[in-house]
Amino acid sequence: MKRKPKLGQNFLVDDRARHAIADALGDVTRRTVIEIGPGRGAITDILAPRCGRLIALELDRELAPALALRFRDQPRVQIVETDVLKADFAAIIPPGETADVIGNLPYYITSDILLKLFAAASAGLLSRAVVMMQREVADRVSASPGVRDYGLLSATAQIHAQVEQLFTLPPSAFSPPPEVYSSVLRLHFRPRFSELGVDPTGFDAFLRQSFAQKRKTLENNLRAAGYSSVQLIAAWPARIPRQARAESLGLEAMAELYRSLAVSVSH
Ligand code: SAM
Repeated sequence: MKRKPKLGQNFLVDDRARHAIADALGDVTRRTVIEIGPGRGAITDILAPRCGRLIALELDRELAPALALRFRDQPRVQIVETDVLKADFAAIIPPGETADVIGNLPYYITSDILLKLFAAASAGLLSRAVVMMQREVADRVSASPGVRDYGLLSATAQIHAQVEQLFTLPPSAFSPPPEVYSSVLRLHFRPRFSELGVDPTGFDAFLRQSFAQKRKTLENNLRAAGYSSVQLIAAWPARIPRQARAESLGLEAMAELYRSLAVSVSH
């Protein structure tokens, strides 16, 4: 079977690593687990006998049927040939339940997959995820405000989930080896919108406006997004320096500014 580099096919061959990834999901005996990109089954093989139900989403037209054949006698395992970005999680997960997600992600669509997971988490469909991605992306997802890697992806991730960096793997853990190191993150989905007093859609758009241009101050990014100087001066919280960049502020401060602007704009 020919490997398809376009589909991000770097298969995990380090035995300890694939066990460590599966173990990181914890006790899944009664859980529905969604695996993204099972490939040749490195993680699927370990999880299949462990979880209540395993639904593995694989886009490759050859790998998906090969895996389906391998698991044909295991009714709790379902291999679905589909694009994860098009999959309907609400239809996969039993009503009233949440699922866990696992995956050595296809790196070319990591951000899109994360955004899909955050949306599903906001809809109350997911509890946790253990996901491997390029180390630089994992560093951005888990960065704290004020450090170089902190940006829109960090803020978006951290309003949806508590993020834990677990471990990093060298290219030699994969076949063929990718050009980059890879890190495994565990996400505990706990959307913070109501705690921060913001509406998800509006705040999401506000974050995108605030981080639009890295070299600009937050105030200038918001001005470019259409807020007037009068609105910004009236709403600006005392504890936020006027020259601050969004990258230096925590979610609490961003939420305070958003709430304050919403009040001043509505008057
Ligand atoms: N889980 C396997 C492992 O650890 O060895 C394979 C991981 S490999 C990095 C990524 C997998 O995602 C490949 O099997 C690839 O075919 C699959 N894939 C790529 N794009 C996909 C998509 N849009 N939807 C579902 N699976 C996809």
